[in-house]
Amino acid sequence: LQTRDGAALRTDFPGLVTADGAPWHYLDTAATAQKPQAVIDATVRAMGTDYATVHRGVYARSADMTLAFEAARRRVAQFINAPSENEIVFVRGATEGINLVAQSWGGANLKAGDRILLSTLEHHSNIVPWQLIAERTGARIDVVPLTQDGRIDLDAMAAMIRPEHRIVALAHVSNVLGSVLDVRRAADIAHGAGALLLVDGCQAAPRLAIDVQALGCDFYLFSGHKLYGPTGIGVLWARGDILAAMPPYHGGGAMIDKVTFAGTTYAPPPARFEAGTPAIIETIGLAAAIDYVEAIGLDVIAAHEDALVARTRAALREINAIRLLGPDDAAGIVSFVMEGVHPHDIGTILDESGVAIRAGHHCAQPLMAHLGVEATARASFGLYSDESDIEALLKGLDRVRAIFG
Ligand code: PMP
Repeated sequence: LQTRDGAALRTDFPGLVTADGAPWHYLDTAATAQKPQAVIDATVRAMGTDYATVHRGVYARSADMTLAFEAARRRVAQFINAPSENEIVFVRGATEGINLVAQSWGGANLKAGDRILLSTLEHHSNIVPWQLIAERTGARIDVVPLTQDGRIDLDAMAAMIRPEHRIVALAHVSNVLGSVLDVRRAADIAHGAGALLLVDGCQAAPRLAIDVQALGCDFYLFSGHKLYGPTGIGVLWARGDILAAMPPYHGGGAMIDKVTFAGTTYAPPPARFEAGTPAIIETIGLAAAIDYVEAIGLDVIAAHEDALVARTRAALREINAIRLLGPDDAAGIVSFVMEGVHPHDIGTILDESGVAIRAGHHCAQPLMAHLGVEATARASFGLYSDESDIEALLKGLDRVRAIFG
């Protein structure tokens, strides 16, 4: 991708060079994205000349920061087409957001006999929080299987869902296989059985245009750091009526209406779920990241990454020792295993060639068990990825084959 004046977008990202100034072939954007200078500048300003607390100060700097902070909330609402910015809860990341929903909504609504529906490909952060609340409430967990090519099998979901299922929690895009969920259909199936649908949008938000109203889900989550923004900030969107009925998750300052030792009343959402001084700097950085990706266009980013995935899959298919995982229309992510070579060795040899991939179980051990592997090698793309990254990857894989015979 290029900027409007034709320069390579890579130059916007100071992280994309090695310590000695050589290009770095960063193929681990699904773990965390490199940051454009615009995001870095916005956070430096927020931490420097603009810095003050929000929501409490009577002085002008704090009032200005409060305006910027709440403008970021509106920016996020716009980004995912939420009906109201009051449905946007700032959290530390998707992990905290899912724990919030599981403990708050789950604690108030789940009881013994109820069931929770997940899928085989979920990230641990969309499994373990549900196990914790299941243990607390006596609810049980069921798992939707995958299709042959690694998608959540919605036909199987439709066949197995029952009135006891109160909530379904699924990844929009798999962080291992890149498979994309038909969220609309999943929402229709869930709602048809009287269940809510939570969507883990961690890998979708950086590469697909999100419209929570069109998707029809009830909860949507993503992390800022995968969307070219800072760490420590994430978004929980929930339908307003659901959020209004949810009890607090964390207690503390900023989430109350009135506190006495006889009892405390709570603020309406989103403040009810944002105890303590928020991640002010990171939130401003997230808004800058959204400005950055929207100036390029999510449709442009998606098409760009689709082309890179297609090219990579075609090249890897030519290598006999490689088994490609996931569907051909994967979003931004290509996982594979190589006969006789541990993914960690692939990763280490590639690193010596200036190529960074991820090797491991990707926080998806149940999926690894289903695939019959302990780990995979994963190349994942971002808006700054280009043909030179794929060439470096293929060259590095030649070296791997040479070393391992
Ligand atoms: N879900 C998916 C699909 C992910 O890829 C990740 C991050 N690897 C998470 C959840 C957790 O996100 P975070 O660590 O930012 O909370």
